[in-house]
Amino acid sequence: MARPAIFFLLFVVTNASLVLLYPFTLSRFLLVALIYAAGTLLILYLLFHPRNQWLVANRSRVDGEGCVALTFDDGPDPVDTPKLLDLLREKGVKATFFVVGKRADQYPDIVRRAWAEGHLVANHTWSHHALFCFLMPGCLRAEIERGTESVRRCCGFRPHFFRSPVGLRHPLLGPYLKDAGLEYVSWSIRTRDTLTANSSVLAQRILGKAASGDIILLHDHLPAGADVMLEALPRVIDELRERGFEFVLAGAREDVSDRTLEPASCEPAR
Ligand SMILES: [Zn+2]
Repeated sequence: MARPAIFFLLFVVTNASLVLLYPFTLSRFLLVALIYAAGTLLILYLLFHPRNQWLVANRSRVDGEGCVALTFDDGPDPVDTPKLLDLLREKGVKATFFVVGKRADQYPDIVRRAWAEGHLVANHTWSHHALFCFLMPGCLRAEIERGTESVRRCCGFRPHFFRSPVGLRHPLLGPYLKDAGLEYVSWSIRTRDTLTANSSVLAQRILGKAASGDIILLHDHLPAGADVMLEALPRVIDELRERGFEFVLAGAREDVSDRTLEPASCEPAR
């Protein structure tokens, strides 16, 4: 717990530096501005950078020469995830789905189908809370554990892999993931599919960046639908295959635990 404590100390010192402004002089102001800006930038980096290792150890690449991993966050979606699963089956590609627990409870058959067709199912928290990095400790633990329980209800195992909403960190995320037996998986290519309205632009962006070992972040549930991603994906898959890339999962399916559990009936999402 040393790093969470150091983080909290950094937060306190950064904000407490404001008391040095009194009595006000220009030199004091410059000193406080320097301390406050440096502390704030460091805090923002630690909380928001998707690949920083300091608060939570994480992987953003896969092993194996010529391997890339497609990952889909925020589903399942009742319309777009089945379309995506059809496409992946047609192309013979396996992918990793970071599912939101309360959506998984709404559409458990889709999650079960993803697992049954050889994909990897992972925990993307219970509710995909927008202020994930500011959650109180009890809420953070509940977001993690309820996400895991949702996957267990759908598929009959506890997931081993986890990704937080928008890659946000939390000072206590590292120790809580360890307690829950979860490993954090980040990404190396942010496709910005959530902001892109043109499938050619999206495909070109991915194809222009893709390299061996990349973990590619995409979304199978978006407020306006995932049509752009679904249109771009066949070209991305075909062209990467032509370049000799192989599509792999972001982690091993064997790493899930308690696989003998029977899927339970889902509780209604709240
Ligand atoms: Zn997400």
